[in-house]
Amino acid sequence: MANIIDGKAISAAIRAEIKEETAAFEKEHGFRPGLAVIIVGEDPASQVYVRNKRRACDEVGFYSKAYELPASTTQQELNALVDKLNEDPAIHGILCQLPLPKHLDENEVILRIDPKKDVDAFHPTNVGRIMIGDYSFLPCTPAGVMALLERSGIDITGKECVVVGRSNIVGKPQAMLLLHANGTVTVCHSRTKNLAEVCRRADILVAAIGKADFFTADMIKEGAVVIDVGMNRRADGKLTGDVDFDSVAPKASYITPVPGGVGPMTITMLMKNTLTAAKDSVR
Ligand code: NDP
Repeated sequence: MANIIDGKAISAAIRAEIKEETAAFEKEHGFRPGLAVIIVGEDPASQVYVRNKRRACDEVGFYSKAYELPASTTQQELNALVDKLNEDPAIHGILCQLPLPKHLDENEVILRIDPKKDVDAFHPTNVGRIMIGDYSFLPCTPAGVMALLERSGIDITGKECVVVGRSNIVGKPQAMLLLHANGTVTVCHSRTKNLAEVCRRADILVAAIGKADFFTADMIKEGAVVIDVGMNRRADGKLTGDVDFDSVAPKASYITPVPGGVGPMTITMLMKNTLTAAKDSVR
């Protein structure tokens, strides 16, 4: 049976470190790192995320401000808020909760956020910096995966790493981070041929496709490390990953559960990025 990577415990340990660093930062500079979260409309899942982000800010001692805008907000109004936050010295990180209502252009918002305050690391400037390995922020979910691997003592150098999923927020940056850590990386997607065969080569498999229980034991090499990024809602309302945990766990050496694996790490990495942004602001 695999070792279960406890994302909740690792996340709590990292938050405790961030809290300590935040207290030291405030003592030295006389202000706290500040995060602004913008949410447009009443999407219930987004509201839960925003609440959790505020709670995390309180936990580590950040200043935080949530802007809850009505679904009727215009692009001009949203842009004006971003411009105001870009100029606000108390705000070091700006996050606009996606998805936005259809009439708003997400790309325009991403481009408008000052790259120095882009704690989601979605701005092309930050994406480019990640590509060349010279970055301040890493996208939160892939950074969370790297922290889980590191804190579980898993060496990536020379390992066959297979990332399934090529989205801009998970798959692509994940592949880049594993490459920076000296993994031999293969990226798969919906057009990949012989997916099961490619997955069976993986010493480290990162599953990020958004299909419940898709990865079964026959797709896993004996002793592989299996990281499940997927978050899918079953018909009964239960959260489940992309990996069929019960069949895969006996074959893997390490595995992340859902919930309690990658999920808790994402907001923790957002806190880390905000602290980094505050530190960069006084350099
Ligand atoms: P996207 O829908 O943007 O991307 C899904 C990717 O999976 C695409 O590249 C797609 O390929 C690929 N894919 C879909 N079906 C298959 C298949 N049958 N075989 C191989 N590849 C396939 O999703 P995200 O990257 O945003 O998210 C992925 C999962 O991670 C979701 O479950 C999401 O909820 C979860 N997630 C979890 C987070 C966390 O905090 N734990 C944070 C962010 C996401 P193609 O490009 O060819 O279409």
